[in-house]
Amino acid sequence: MRTYLAILKYALKYKSSLALSIIFNIISIFFSAVSLTMLIPFLQVLFNRASPIRELPPFSLSAQWMLDFFNYHIGKILISEGPVSALLWVCIVVVIMFFMKNLTRYLGQFFMAKVRNGLLRDLRQDLYDKVISLPVNFFTYRRQGDLISRITTDVQEIEWSIVNMIEVVIKEPLTIIAYLTLLLIMSPQLTLFILLLLPITGFIIGQIGKSLKKESVEAQNLTGRLAALVEETIRGITIVKIFTAEKLLKNIFKTVNERLYKARLSSLRKRELSSPLSEFLGIVIVVIVLWFGGRMVLSGTSSLTPETFITFVVIFSQIINPAKSFATAFYHIQRGMAAAERVMEILTTEDNVPQPKNPIYISSFDNSIRFEHVWFAYDKQNFVLKDINLTIKQGEKVALVGPSGAGKTTLVYLIPRFYDPTKGKISIDSHDLRTLDIYSLRKLIAMVPQEPIIFHDTILNNIRLGNPSASMEEVINAAKAAHAHEFIVNLPDGYETVVGERGLRLSGGQRQRIAIARALLKNAPILILDEATSNLDAESEQLVQKGLENLMKGRTAIIIAHRLATVKQSDRIIVLDKGRIVEQGTHEELIKQNGLYASLVSKQNLMETNPPS
Ligand code: ADP
Repeated sequence: MRTYLAILKYALKYKSSLALSIIFNIISIFFSAVSLTMLIPFLQVLFNRASPIRELPPFSLSAQWMLDFFNYHIGKILISEGPVSALLWVCIVVVIMFFMKNLTRYLGQFFMAKVRNGLLRDLRQDLYDKVISLPVNFFTYRRQGDLISRITTDVQEIEWSIVNMIEVVIKEPLTIIAYLTLLLIMSPQLTLFILLLLPITGFIIGQIGKSLKKESVEAQNLTGRLAALVEETIRGITIVKIFTAEKLLKNIFKTVNERLYKARLSSLRKRELSSPLSEFLGIVIVVIVLWFGGRMVLSGTSSLTPETFITFVVIFSQIINPAKSFATAFYHIQRGMAAAERVMEILTTEDNVPQPKNPIYISSFDNSIRFEHVWFAYDKQNFVLKDINLTIKQGEKVALVGPSGAGKTTLVYLIPRFYDPTKGKISIDSHDLRTLDIYSLRKLIAMVPQEPIIFHDTILNNIRLGNPSASMEEVINAAKAAHAHEFIVNLPDGYETVVGERGLRLSGGQRQRIAIARALLKNAPILILDEATSNLDAESEQLVQKGLENLMKGRTAIIIAHRLATVKQSDRIIVLDKGRIVEQGTHEELIKQNGLYASLVSKQNLMETNPPS
């Protein structure tokens, strides 16, 4: 129910269009009711049973008045011009009524299109805005494909359900009520009889709807998994091929695909059942009505005239359609709600790295970054960082070293508040990070990751990411300092060259240098570097190194260091092992200690003097 309301709230943003659509739909229902009742005078003229009204009764907004009004005029024509002309007039009025009915119906849909489409646009935008603002840990537990499928497929599914929901809530009930009122006027007995039969039909259809929702949830989850699989396969295609894992992945895909097939097959079949089932149930009811009504007419004792009875049956058959779409809409809604729940789950995810209520804004970094008894676990149990105590002074260059999995990346990710410590406190210039405005904190930090992310855009925009208002001159200066300018100007469109998806058209070293230029342009006082390891050739590595040196000048830097050269140049080396700081000091001091660092260094030296062939 909450999901329904949440989605309806989106529709209510388009109040005026929604209102217009409802108004036109009501007018359309009015015209269709009137055009159907026209059948009575038509049949009366045809069967020569017309009993024209001599005097027009005073105006009232009722079906009876409409009938009388029509009867009066038809009567006049009948007397003055004969039955053929009267028939012609009836036909012309019927055509006009149907034209008006369809015109207003179209206008109703015309305005509804805006509501549907606008709602979808808003929902997509909100989802994207939410996704981009969610904390980093949200993404580590979720697969990208699944997220993408929620933003695309599920939102589409909601469109169907919303359209149907609006019809179910507004249009169809009104149509049904209007027709039922007409029927009641014509024959209360028969109508009450129908009203007794309808709930039984409704119940049967409702039961199928329930089981359909369960299957839809499963089908949508599986669709998400498939999308995730495809996305991972494409991203890791080289790995898949080199490990000849095609068969393995094909099998995994096949299993999920097969489950999706089964879930969908059963839900499709049930959905398809709704239409024949409701048609059949409808016809059974019509036949029952024909039987009872026919007997009433034949007996001659009731007030039901043959032409009223025929019209009654025709109007009743017209109820079947809205009632049927009422039922089908019900199925769509069940499916749509499954999708809406998946979408709402994202929209209502709480930010567990929240912006403080009264944030402190900082614009400079003057003293130090301090970690005090910091513990951190991704899953609240297995601590990846244990009792970290560390002070990094302004201007200091600190290298983090240690075996892989020691917690180096996690430690640096705590500084821009990608995560909050499970226990303990991190502060910048004695402000607890949790009290700072997140954006002002992140403005102080630039980052060059091991695998730089290059967006599918021009080189210029890629560099400008951290400072969109930078002038061309500033961009070029940053690129020069990053030793990227030279290769950029040799690209086909220079700075305007659009980089292929995930930067595939650039080499590893070139991507690194773009990332360095980006960080230089951001001109933030704190730098986080995750050094690229071995994927650079010697020349490229040298250029990257020079770029990094320019970047680090005058800044505080925390470097996840893989190379001895960087480590030696840093002011202090922090050695991490299994989440704890085990040693710290300068290169010389640590070598003297002859501990973990010394053994890591001797291993690396060995590798460098005797590279594995
Ligand atoms: P390092 O950078 O030193 O190689 P990390 O900080 O990447 O180490 O990882 C430290 C530990 O935390 C590892 O055991 C790793 O498996 C775990 N880890 C890293 N990222 C996540 C994550 N997003 N969710 C759960 N565990 C993680």
